[in-house]
Amino acid sequence: MTELLITTREGTRAGIPSGRIAKYADRLRGELIAAGHQAYDQARRVWNGNIDRRPALIARCLGVADVMASVAFAREHDLLIAARSGAHHAAGYGTCDGGLVIDLSRMKGMQVDPARSTADAQAGLLWGEFDTETQVFGLATTGGVVSDTGIAGLTLGGGLGWLMGKHGLTIDNLLSVDLVTAAGTFLTASADEHADLFWGLRGGGGNFGVATSFRYRLHPIGPTVLGGMVIHPMARAREVLRFYRDFSADLPDEAEVHAALATSPDGDPIAALLLGYNGPIAKGEKVLAPARAFGEPIADLVQPMPYALRNKLQDEPNAIHGIQRYWKSGFTEAISDDLIDFLVEAAADFTSPLTGMVFFRVHGAATRVPSGATAFGLRSGAVGFQRHLPVDGRAGDGCPDRLDACTLEPS
Ligand SMILES: Cc1cc2nc3c(=O)[nH]c(=O)nc-3n(C[C@H](O)[C@H](O)[C@H](O)COP(=O)(O)OP(=O)(O)OC[C@H]3O[C@@H](n4cnc5c(N)ncnc54)[C@H](O)[C@@H]3O)c2cc1C
Repeated sequence: MTELLITTREGTRAGIPSGRIAKYADRLRGELIAAGHQAYDQARRVWNGNIDRRPALIARCLGVADVMASVAFAREHDLLIAARSGAHHAAGYGTCDGGLVIDLSRMKGMQVDPARSTADAQAGLLWGEFDTETQVFGLATTGGVVSDTGIAGLTLGGGLGWLMGKHGLTIDNLLSVDLVTAAGTFLTASADEHADLFWGLRGGGGNFGVATSFRYRLHPIGPTVLGGMVIHPMARAREVLRFYRDFSADLPDEAEVHAALATSPDGDPIAALLLGYNGPIAKGEKVLAPARAFGEPIADLVQPMPYALRNKLQDEPNAIHGIQRYWKSGFTEAISDDLIDFLVEAAADFTSPLTGMVFFRVHGAATRVPSGATAFGLRSGAVGFQRHLPVDGRAGDGCPDRLDACTLEPS
């Protein structure tokens, strides 16, 4: 009898007889894919092309029963597993070498209850799909700023987005999670059931079991909101970031301002303010006016637009799968002039037009939740920043570690 060579949880190698694998495949409604299958190379890919792992098996689950069968199979064989939903994790935590990928990306069921303003959403949904379903009813909850990020990984990590000032993080709108635990048991965690687990699921990441579905609280939003970019030349980056620091420090909950150092589609280095307002357009025009009047922008692209479209403004190039990328991110409580200076200097070293830095401030409702109330502790009004750069296959190549100097550890 042939065997499939796998990696165990301890990192050792072992063999699973092919008959056992065939039995497991028979139990699944979805497909089980191993090396040699025509879909294997496509199925093992994740968003970051720099992650090139070769799982022994990929189970494309279609429902809770498939997830339970997969966890049971993994337990039986002490098999290393990775749960994968949107595949967007920059470090590739949604896949593994030699183990079983429990792939939930095909579980896309969703039901909105407009009367109760809630949504039940399966783990394979992406934020663009989620927004389409909720916006039909003029509703939304805080989600990612790039439309093809998975709702699962983003929710379990906390969830920062355009609505965080007004409605808090994604986890602040999470009512319950359906989960298959490492013991193979199905349960629902909420404030009333398995409350400790629910605390950890809100910001603690993906290690508490395999989440199959999430229930969210929704809020009326849009369908038309104010949004868009004000673009300055990179030569003004210092002034733009100083303005960003001061302006973003005192925003009403409805407003969001992010900043970016990047390259325009025409190839020009730019410093941009990304603006959004989650309330009446006329009020938003007033609140955001100083950010549009500041300096001498090359372009002011701020305008009324559909809420779902604003969540796609940063899709290019971020939604492109397969580019080899390196990301580094951190939080800082204060943006000092020194910090601005060295971030601007770092921007002068950008190695490609896809390289960029993004700044966002956790503010408003997101800061009013006590830091111990969920596993996401960074509630103090910190500013987050990320440096993104594509690499030529050598992870981390050419990435200065200077950003570490101003990184706060999560409390
Ligand atoms: C282009 C881009 C834009 C982003 N924008 C934002 C943003 O606006 N706001 C924000 O907060 N974050 C953002 N992120 C970060 C993003 O939230 C995380 O990378 C998140 O983990 C992605 O979730 P996923 O389901 O797509 O990823 P995956 O790679 O599928 O999974 C990521 C992690 O979550 C775990 N996981 C996935 N599904 C499950 C599940 N069903 N049950 C249990 N664990 C699971 C995985 O094991 C892995 O550890 C962005 C990332 C990228 C690449």
